[in-house]
Amino acid sequence: MNSFPDITQLPATEEWQQLLSNTIDEPEALLRELDLPLSLLDGADQGARLFALKVPRPFLQRMEKGNPNDPLLRQVLPLEAETLEIRGYVTDPLAEMAANHSDGLIHKYKGRVLLILSGACAVNCRYCFRRHFPYADNRLGSEQWNKVLDYLRADDSISEVIFSGGDPLATSDSRLQRMIGDLEQIPHLRRLRIHSRLPVVIPQRVTARLCQMLEQSRFDTALVLHANHANELDRNVAKAAARLKQANVTLLNQAVLLKGVNESVSAQAALSETLFSMGILPYYLFTLDPVQGAAHFDIPDQQAIALHAELQTLLPGYLVPRLAREIPGRASKTLLHD
Ligand code: SF4
Repeated sequence: MNSFPDITQLPATEEWQQLLSNTIDEPEALLRELDLPLSLLDGADQGARLFALKVPRPFLQRMEKGNPNDPLLRQVLPLEAETLEIRGYVTDPLAEMAANHSDGLIHKYKGRVLLILSGACAVNCRYCFRRHFPYADNRLGSEQWNKVLDYLRADDSISEVIFSGGDPLATSDSRLQRMIGDLEQIPHLRRLRIHSRLPVVIPQRVTARLCQMLEQSRFDTALVLHANHANELDRNVAKAAARLKQANVTLLNQAVLLKGVNESVSAQAALSETLFSMGILPYYLFTLDPVQGAAHFDIPDQQAIALHAELQTLLPGYLVPRLAREIPGRASKTLLHD
């Protein structure tokens, strides 16, 4: 039964698309919007030449003007440090190319398969492990999509499909509906997981149609959000989370431990508590993947483990995310704590 009868109370579908196409893409515009010194511009231009700047306005509005150390700004502001070549920091830190069995499909772990639905993101996170990913070679056109469906049909050990990207929710609702409908025809698929940063950075993306589609799907559905700091979670994110929960979507969060953003116990505790107040469970806290251009965000393992241990003394277990990293070739994520 449709539990969203009053569609006028929900955001218009077009609003998120407008916000997505009107992101801030120029370093100078970002600095001016935030009243930041133009002395930061040279470094920002250098970094942006390697990986474009992209910041949506709803996310920008949560940053503190005049503060170059704002934890949200630090996630998106390109820096000269990104141009340094540091030993061990590579373009494909998770060796995903080895698991790229078909265009747009990555099969790393038993039972679940990841699909790259879209190369687009609403925000370009400077630490992203896919900042060098060849999205252009992984477009899911109709021919590639049919190959993906053949791959999934042929392997009945696969029970879960993960929509990833880029950001899979950068895809239109009508395309998502078609894809979910095709997947639902494959009997051994039981779960759908969506990894998306859009409900955080542009909460208007959580449309009535998206919620209806997820609620009406035969799949058990989880949405893994990506917020790294409590300041990212404003009233509109809370409303988006409430709509998703109403649609019976399980809400989880994964974060990345980032120097200069969230490496204090107080920041982590505030993140967990704010997530839970919105019905979202802290799921993973990942250490940085060694991707070229992001070394300045790295936190040593010992510091990460000590932080996590202290967090365990402050919060109930269900509010403490698993501290983990992905090591290429392993059968699952590797936990850094007992
Ligand atoms: S894939 Fe996720 S982490 Fe990477 S840039 Fe896009 S939104 Fe950010």
